[in-house]
Amino acid sequence: MPELPEVQTIVNQLQNLRGRKINSVDIILPAVFGGNEKDIIGEEIRGVERRGKTIVLKLSNGKFLTIHLRMTGRLVYNKTDKINKDKNPITGELPNKHTRAIFGLDKGTLFFNDVRKFGRIKIMSDTQWAMDNQKLGPDALGKEFTEKYLAETCRGWKRPIKLLLLDQEKIAGIGNIYANEILWCARINPRESASVLVRQAPKIVPIIRTCVIKVLREGIKYGGSTSGDRSYVDLLGQPGGMQEHLNVYHRTGKACPRNDGGIIQKSVIGGRGTFFCPVCQG
Ligand SMILES: [Zn+2]
Repeated sequence: MPELPEVQTIVNQLQNLRGRKINSVDIILPAVFGGNEKDIIGEEIRGVERRGKTIVLKLSNGKFLTIHLRMTGRLVYNKTDKINKDKNPITGELPNKHTRAIFGLDKGTLFFNDVRKFGRIKIMSDTQWAMDNQKLGPDALGKEFTEKYLAETCRGWKRPIKLLLLDQEKIAGIGNIYANEILWCARINPRESASVLVRQAPKIVPIIRTCVIKVLREGIKYGGSTSGDRSYVDLLGQPGGMQEHLNVYHRTGKACPRNDGGIIQKSVIGGRGTFFCPVCQG
C-alpha cells in the first residue's frame, strides 16, 4: 500500500504537470469517483500537495481534486498520447482492464488504475477539503508533529505503539511498511503499550520522532517501496528502490542488520503483519 514516501514521490513528479489543463474526464468505474466531472473539465492544475497519504491537486477554479491510492491504486502519466503502447513491463498497455478513470490533459494523459478498486478520487470545494483534512492528525513530516505532541499522544494511548503509528487521526502518512521500520530504528517492541513506554522511558519520545522522520525521508530518497506484489509504481510507471533498504519488513527468518544475533520474526498486531528483531526490540 502506498504510504507517505510513495505518495510524496508521485506528488514530486506531478509538480511537472502544473499549468496543464484538464480537457476530458472518463470515469470507467463510477464507484471510485466522487463529484461531478464537469466541475473540473477546462480547469488548470495550479498546485500539487500531499497530505498524509492523499494526493491533492489544486485547480484554477478553487476546487480540489484529491486522490487516495489505498491498496493497489496507481496514477500513471503518459506524456505522448492517450494509449500507451510502450508496454511498460509493470503497467502494461494503458488503458487496460484495471483502468478506472482517465484524465485527458492538454498535453498527455493521466491514468488511474486500481486492481482492487479501493482507491478514491474526489472533487471537493475548499470547505469540504478543509473538513476532510481536519480528520487527519499532524503530517508525519509536518511542523505540527512535535515532540510535545508525540509525548501527549503516546500518554493517551494504552494499546500497542504500532497501532498508534498506523492511526491516521493521530499521525498522518505512516502505513505498515514504515511503522515496522520506524520501530526497528527506535529499538521498540511493536506490541509495547505507548503510554507505558513513555512513562517508563520519557527519553524515548525524541528517538521515536527522529526515527519517523529519518525512515520516511529515506523512503522518499529511494523513490518509495515496491514490495513483492509490485503494486506500487511512480507517476512514470517505475518501481521504487526502498525495498532494497528495508531492515525488518518482510524479512522473516533473516538476520537482524544490527548483527546482534537476532532473527527477524513475524507476528500479527491489529490484523497487520508485524516484523521485528527479538533481540534489539525485545
Ligand atoms: Zn536486532
